[in-house]
Amino acid sequence: MSLWLDIAVQTPAHSQVGGLLTYRSPFGVQAGQLVRVPLGKREVLGVVWAISDQAPAEISADSLREVTGVLDGLNPLDGAWRQLVQFSAQYYQRSLGEVALSALPPQLRELSNEQLARRLKKQNTDRAVCTSPGPSLSDEQNAVLTQMASGTGPFLLFGSTGSGKTEVYMQAVERMLATDPQAQALLMVPEINLTPQLEERVKARFGTDAVVSMHSGMTPAQRLKGWLAAHAGHARIVLGTRMAIFASMPHLKLIVVDEEHDPSYKQQEGARYSARDLAVYRGRLHNATVLLASATPSLESWHLSRPADADGLNAGRYVRLHMPSRIGTGLLPKVRRVDMNKQPRRTVLSAPLVAALQERVERGEQCMLLLNRRGYAPVLHCADCGWKSACKHCSAFRVFHKIDRTLRCHHCGLTERVPRACPDCGNADIAPIGRGTEQLEEHLGELLAHVKRPDGSPIRIARIDADSTRLKGALESQLASVHSGEVDILVGTQMIAKGHDFRRITLVAAVNPDTALFSSDFRAPERLFALLMQAAGRAGRDATQSATSEMWVQTFHPTHALFEALKKHDYPAFAASELAERTAADLPPLSHQALLRADARTQEAAQGLLNAARETLEAQLSADPDTADLVLQVNVYPAVPMSMQRVADVERAQMLLESPHRMALQKMLWHLHGVLHQVRSLPEHKGVIRWLVDVDPQTI
Ligand code: ADP
Ligand code: ZN
Ligand code: ZN
Repeated sequence: MSLWLDIAVQTPAHSQVGGLLTYRSPFGVQAGQLVRVPLGKREVLGVVWAISDQAPAEISADSLREVTGVLDGLNPLDGAWRQLVQFSAQYYQRSLGEVALSALPPQLRELSNEQLARRLKKQNTDRAVCTSPGPSLSDEQNAVLTQMASGTGPFLLFGSTGSGKTEVYMQAVERMLATDPQAQALLMVPEINLTPQLEERVKARFGTDAVVSMHSGMTPAQRLKGWLAAHAGHARIVLGTRMAIFASMPHLKLIVVDEEHDPSYKQQEGARYSARDLAVYRGRLHNATVLLASATPSLESWHLSRPADADGLNAGRYVRLHMPSRIGTGLLPKVRRVDMNKQPRRTVLSAPLVAALQERVERGEQCMLLLNRRGYAPVLHCADCGWKSACKHCSAFRVFHKIDRTLRCHHCGLTERVPRACPDCGNADIAPIGRGTEQLEEHLGELLAHVKRPDGSPIRIARIDADSTRLKGALESQLASVHSGEVDILVGTQMIAKGHDFRRITLVAAVNPDTALFSSDFRAPERLFALLMQAAGRAGRDATQSATSEMWVQTFHPTHALFEALKKHDYPAFAASELAERTAADLPPLSHQALLRADARTQEAAQGLLNAARETLEAQLSADPDTADLVLQVNVYPAVPMSMQRVADVERAQMLLESPHRMALQKMLWHLHGVLHQVRSLPEHKGVIRWLVDVDPQTI
């Protein structure tokens, strides 16, 4: 007897087979089981998707190849997991095989059954947790947990920085573990650099064995070990970044998405999924509670959790929970705006800010300065002939890094020594324009050189950004020196604004936040507001110092609505005004978007493919009465160059699709997929290197 199996295997992106191949099996298998199958000359890992005892009609059964073997000792991947993968592939327009296989730890593909058996034997199969008691809860924390227990969610926890959101997650986990001896919880965080802190906290609370981590900074062996523990149900808590949304967790009962607004929940290559959105979908599949949390929720989640209007209608489908107060008597920092129009021209750090920094350091307090650009200066410039340090491969300038006197392109990586003189006219006097973190650190050192700490020792300034943390372990040791108080002033990019529980910082300053106010990306103000609120949340975390803590903003637009809302720590006011603008302009969350992107050697070729696809698509859909409506429901805009038009000598163009109806957009993308395959094979589009679709893009 034979069985016929549809098996998910790794197939090339956009492949039309959809990633399911049919095989014959001489032995019994179950759906979700991991198997080895021949593919071309290789043997590859596959996941059994569907089983039939009937030979497929369209293929001659004898031509089908046989499954080679089963991975012993592993339970099948459950139906909910398979449904999650299938939905993700469909929704984000990738092949099922690609999504399924990239959701599994890479080492699974390489291990023989003997090697796998050894790994499985080494496992800790104890499901027990040893919970140590947490603090007694605040009234707000109690209220939130009660609401969670009495509803099904999904929940959006809108809680100030330092309001004790993390403690709410822990309690929710604790209660779930206590009521169900098998239940598993998934805790998601935006970035690896935040994981160690939370990991320690979670392990201290629930015991080391109960918790596994999942993020891209782990070795393949560590990833496999964690995955196996979660899959077998031994790991009761999985803590991870966006990739963890695909962890196999058969007893999943709770999903928490911390800092749910963070853009890093969106994958930026392959299947461009949003782990936050998939969390909500997955919660439904498992009947698990979903808790999204932030001090500055994404406007999407905020909108989805809107209360009903006066007639009791039109409420969002998320339940909004609120924790406005900081724990203890902690107050949010006072926001101070410095009007840079009133400062001498070319001022980098205003006199009042410098004085405030000095005062804090002399009192033994710590300060943090944020600047959104690393390196020394964004451009080198020749005043004689106008030469600028453009990258020859990208539509961007190379950044001057003084430390090693290089010009580096932050897009393609091209790095060269700074020329002695202007390459165009020979002028020896080429100068940096604009400022990066490196220069800010240097400038601050000069301005505050005379300042002493309370014990009489000299002031210490440190910088944390992608350059200073390139070496493994560098970030950890730099963070440790801030926590231990060795550093007085920390200079850095947004890396330092996120999540860190620095106890002694009492002043945070944004040096030059204005550029985001006038960006072409409609989400830039939302990002800036979140960043500044988060940065403000770093100040005064120790309640004894919170009364005097401050957030400074240097700006040429001090009366801008964004800064007015920041001053009052009023996220709802900011969200209301942003949502009004989005509504007026038909932008998300009031509409849904997808981007089709093409890369080619020339801009013309890239745009050519997109426009041809658009014309073919609209012609085909209009001609068929069943689909003619779609053309009216979905706006497809003409192709335009991307804002970063050229990277590493590749020209990039994009085409926006927009619709008030998510389903209509999805249908349109489905048709577009077919059209692209037709159009792409035409000789006039030979020059196109690749195309890709980004559904719900985070940057336009
Ligand atoms: P958030 O995640 O909202 O920024 P945290 O959960 O990190 O806030 O809490 C801020 C601080 O308050 C932490 O140091 C935490 O240990 C402490 N904390 C939280 N809840 C309580 C509580 N109920 N009683 C005492 N301290 C608490
Ligand atoms: Zn010159
Ligand atoms: Zn470049």
